Amino acid sequence: MQACSINLTAMADFRDLRIAVIGAGMGGLGTALAFARKGFKHINVFETASNLGFVGAGIQMPPNVIRVLDRLGCWEEIAKEATDVKGTSIRQGSTDVELGHVYMPDMREKYGYPHCTGHRSSLAGGLFNGCKKESAIKFHFSTALVGIDSWAPKPKMTVKPRDGEAYQVEADIILAADGIKSLTRTQMLKDALGTESSEEDTGQAAYRIMLKRSEMEHDPEMIALLDSDTVVRWIGEKRHIIAYPVSNKQIYNLSSAQPDTNFAAATNATYTTKGSKKQMLEVYHDFCPLVQRMLDLVPEGEVCEWKLRQHKTLPTWVHGSVALIGDACHPTLPHMSQGAAMAIEDGAVLAECVSRIPSGKLNDPEAVTKTLKVFELLRKPHTNALVDLAAFSGRTLHLGEGKAREERDRQFKEGLKTGSVPDKWASPDVQKMIYAYDCVKDAQERYDELLASLSSTNGTTV
Ligand SMILES: Cc1cc2nc3c(=O)[nH]c(=O)nc-3n(C[C@H](O)[C@H](O)[C@H](O)COP(=O)(O)OP(=O)(O)OC[C@H]3O[C@@H](n4cnc5c(N)ncnc54)[C@H](O)[C@@H]3O)c2cc1C
Repeated sequence: MQACSINLTAMADFRDLRIAVIGAGMGGLGTALAFARKGFKHINVFETASNLGFVGAGIQMPPNVIRVLDRLGCWEEIAKEATDVKGTSIRQGSTDVELGHVYMPDMREKYGYPHCTGHRSSLAGGLFNGCKKESAIKFHFSTALVGIDSWAPKPKMTVKPRDGEAYQVEADIILAADGIKSLTRTQMLKDALGTESSEEDTGQAAYRIMLKRSEMEHDPEMIALLDSDTVVRWIGEKRHIIAYPVSNKQIYNLSSAQPDTNFAAATNATYTTKGSKKQMLEVYHDFCPLVQRMLDLVPEGEVCEWKLRQHKTLPTWVHGSVALIGDACHPTLPHMSQGAAMAIEDGAVLAECVSRIPSGKLNDPEAVTKTLKVFELLRKPHTNALVDLAAFSGRTLHLGEGKAREERDRQFKEGLKTGSVPDKWASPDVQKMIYAYDCVKDAQERYDELLASLSSTNGTTV
C-alpha cells in the first residue's frame, strides 16, 4: 500500500492544514470550495464515482443557500438557467382545485436573494467549475474510501482507486460528505461510542420525472405550468407530487412521495429501482386529468423510484479530527427542499470554524476536535429542526379524509391572512426563519462563545 501525505512539521497558518473531503456530492463540492475560498492550500476530494454523475432531476435552491453560493463565487453561473420562483400553489390532487396560494414576488427584497429552481447538474456543475478554478483543490475520482484507520491526532484513511492499489492518506482534518449510506458514519459511531446509527423507516418512496418542453407543448394547460414561475404541489392521502420548471423552462420537473411498497420488502439496502409505469399510474389513478396526462408522458422503462430515507438524530457528528457533513449526518425527507442546501451550508460553516483555530494550536488535536464540535453545536439544532419540519409537513400534506384534514384545508384558505400555511415549505413564517438565517454570520458571532462552552478534555459541552 502506498502512502500519500504532505509532511508539515511547523504549521503556523491555518491555510496549511491538510483537508481531506470524502464524497463529491453537493456537500463535498461545497465544502471543498468553501475551504479553498478561505485560503486553505491543501484540499483533496475522494469520490467513488468516475465523475459527478448526477441523476436527472431538479432541485430547489432557496435564498439561504444562494447566499452561500454567491459568496463562493459560483451563483452567477448557476443563475443563468435557474427559474425565479414567484409563488407556490397547493392543490387538491384529485380535483386540481387550489387549496392555498403563497405569493413570493419579493424574496430578494426580504432575504437579499431569490428562491430558485434548477437542474441538479447545473448546481453541481457550478460548484465543480468553482472548484476547478482553485489550484488548492485536487479531485480523486474513481477512488473510494475503504475505511478510517485512525481518527486522531492526525487522521488516516485508506482509499482505493477503481483500477489501482489501495493507499493510505494522512490529513489534519477529514470531512466525510459520503451521503446517506456513509461508511464514515457507521465506523465513527462504532469506534467512538460502540453503537450503530438507526435508520428511521419513512415508509415513503419518490418518483422523479423530467418532461421536455417539446413533449408538453401540445397541451395548453401543461405549457402554462411550465411557464408559470410557480411551484405546484398536488396533494392527496399518503401521496403528493411537487413540480416546477428547470433548465430555463425547457424541462418540467416532477417529484413525488408515496407509500413505499417496492423497497419495504427488499432484503438489501437498495435505494433506487426501475419502477413500473403501470404501477406509477395506479398509485396516482385518482389524481386529476392534468397530472395523469403528465405522468403518461413518461416513457415506458424510464420510471425511476427512490426510497426516501432518514436516520434518528446521531449522538455525535465528530470523532477526533473527523467530522460528518450533509446527508451523512442529517438525512431528511425532501418536503422542505433543504437537504442539499444544508449540506452546502455545513461546508461554509466548517471552513469558517476551522479558519479560527489559533496559529499556536494548529498541531493540537484537541483544538481541532473542539472546533469541529463547535461546528456540530452550530448546525445540529438548526438541521434537526428542519428534518423534523419536513417529516411534520409530510404528515400534514398526506392526511386522509376527516376532521384533521378539514382543519388543514381551512388553514390553507386563511394562509394569506395569517402568514402561515400547513405546507411548511411554503409557509411565510417558516420561510422567514430559514431564508433569513445567515449560517456563516451565525458562526462568526457565536464561535467564541460555543468554544468556551466546551470542556477542556473531550470536546463535550460542560
Ligand atoms: C426526491 C428528492 C428531492 C430533493 N429535493 C431537494 C431540493 O429541492 N433542495 C435541496 O436542497 N435538497 C433536496 N434533496 C436533498 C438532497 O438531494 C440531498 O440532501 C443532498 O444531495 C445531499 O448531499 P450530500 O453531499 O450530503 O450527499 P450526496 O449527494 O449523496 O453525495 C455523497 C457523495 O459521496 C460519494 N461517496 C459515498 N460513499 C463514498 C466512499 N466510500 N468513498 C468515496 N465517495 C463516496 C457518493 O458517490 C456521492 O457522490 C432532495 C432529495 C430527494 C431524495
